Amino acid sequence: MALAFDEYGRPFIIIKEQEQKTRLRGIDAQKANISAGKAVAQILKTSLGPKGMDKMLQSPDGDVTISNDGATILEMMDVDNQIAKLMVELSRSQDYEIGDGTTGVVVLAGSLLEQAERLLERGIHPIRVAEGYEMASRIAVEHLERIATKYEFDASNIEPLVQTCMTTLSSKIVNRCKRALAEIAVKAVLAVADLERKDVNLELIKVEGKVGGKLEDTELIYGIILDKDMSHPQMPKQIEDAKIAILTCPFEPPKPKTKHKVDIDTVEKFQTLRGQEQKYFDDMVQQCKDVGATLVICQWGFDDEANHLLMHRNLPAVRWVGGVELELIAIATGGRIVPRFQELTPEKLGKAGIVREKAFGTTKDRMLYIEHCANSRAVTVFIRGGNKMMIEETKRSIHDALCVARNLIRNNSIVYGGGSAEISCSVAVEAAADKYPGVEQYAIRGFADALDAVPMALAENSGLQPIETLSAVKSQQIKENNPYCGIDCNDVGTNDMREQNVFETLIGKQQQILLATQVVKMILKIDDVISPNEF
Ligand code: ADP
Repeated sequence: MALAFDEYGRPFIIIKEQEQKTRLRGIDAQKANISAGKAVAQILKTSLGPKGMDKMLQSPDGDVTISNDGATILEMMDVDNQIAKLMVELSRSQDYEIGDGTTGVVVLAGSLLEQAERLLERGIHPIRVAEGYEMASRIAVEHLERIATKYEFDASNIEPLVQTCMTTLSSKIVNRCKRALAEIAVKAVLAVADLERKDVNLELIKVEGKVGGKLEDTELIYGIILDKDMSHPQMPKQIEDAKIAILTCPFEPPKPKTKHKVDIDTVEKFQTLRGQEQKYFDDMVQQCKDVGATLVICQWGFDDEANHLLMHRNLPAVRWVGGVELELIAIATGGRIVPRFQELTPEKLGKAGIVREKAFGTTKDRMLYIEHCANSRAVTVFIRGGNKMMIEETKRSIHDALCVARNLIRNNSIVYGGGSAEISCSVAVEAAADKYPGVEQYAIRGFADALDAVPMALAENSGLQPIETLSAVKSQQIKENNPYCGIDCNDVGTNDMREQNVFETLIGKQQQILLATQVVKMILKIDDVISPNEF
């Protein structure tokens, strides 16, 4: 600290920044970082696999989330440590690129860090470890290509896609309905997919949820849904070949401005006014009918009188539709949002194959389904469930399944799950290590050991002896030269993941290995941590 004076002679204190910072250097920095990363991985480890546990997270305002999805758990964990934040980023990038495997990638990174710690303790330089890991990851990724198989499917044979989505869903809370949900996800993806260009625009798939009903009631809608109903109970509940007027103008006569005074002192005057008001409504309804609209969707409300008239004139209407939804309807149905009745023209009407109102069970809840829209192939996955937490978790699970189906359409190579791919890579990397004469071979062996963490965690979470199970499966793989042996988490009776139909996409698995290696290399290369001191 130093004392100084400004131009008016007032004293002020200069604090030297550096003194206020804590600093960790060299091996201490690496060790501290490694243990932070490991701690995060440790939390997620118990969530891996079909028998993995779920986590319950409470937000500062008391909302509770229960999830099994690695990216979600980390996102909500509110970690303070910078290295822990890197692990959160890691999971997020896997989620962004692939959408699935977000737990696995963190478990793998944690295990790589653990092995790195051992190597550092043996006196190997962190850069050597990083280089060795890089080589090993390349070997593993190439090996994955070798053990991958092509999975043929087309629009008429979607079973392979469904099976792969089922593997993803089997580790989630919703696994009770995994078959139905997997089918929904695959159909949704195929509805918006461009199979020629092998491209899928997931933006076109909306995932909506409403509390109530059962998970089994979840459905796929070829269109969009609105949490609204027809404005009058006697209006038709179903409109085929709907021509929709999308209005942002209110369905009511203009109100007299407050400055003006309306004197009504006789019955006749009142009746004239009333008659004029009615005519006004009538004109508005007529304008809609003239352009050929069979349904009116209105951003504003309208009073009972207008409602009654609409019903009488046989023009179904929906009121109080939010701006965002209005826009969505306009895009999907190819219509235009009309701000004034005078501007209505037949070309501005949106078109949909069918618009229907659906009531749910005994509850008074109704939803409006706008299906087979003219302009867009947009589809909606409509999730039902007992409570909000369940719906939110189902949304996340469906997201994973949608991503998996998309990945398969982009690249139809798969590897087998249940840790079989990791074990096979581990064996391949271990064998390759001997070819390297330098110190890197230790790091490469460390990498091979780290790959075993995934099957071990799967076994442990399923209540099996991790080391015994892993060694048994590994020796079976080597003995039978069968890279498809994995951990039989569900006690089906076979280790062969081909028979169990447990698949993962090749690009997903490769991405896991590449991303985890990248982050671990990054952590290993940090040898100086400067952070502000806490007062
Ligand atoms: P992530 O978020 O990484 O996808 P999950 O909790 O979904 O994590 O677990 C995925 C792991 O569980 C993968 O390694 C996958 O191969 C494995 N797995 C999924 N279903 C089964 C199954 N029925 N038997 C064995 N392993 C399975």
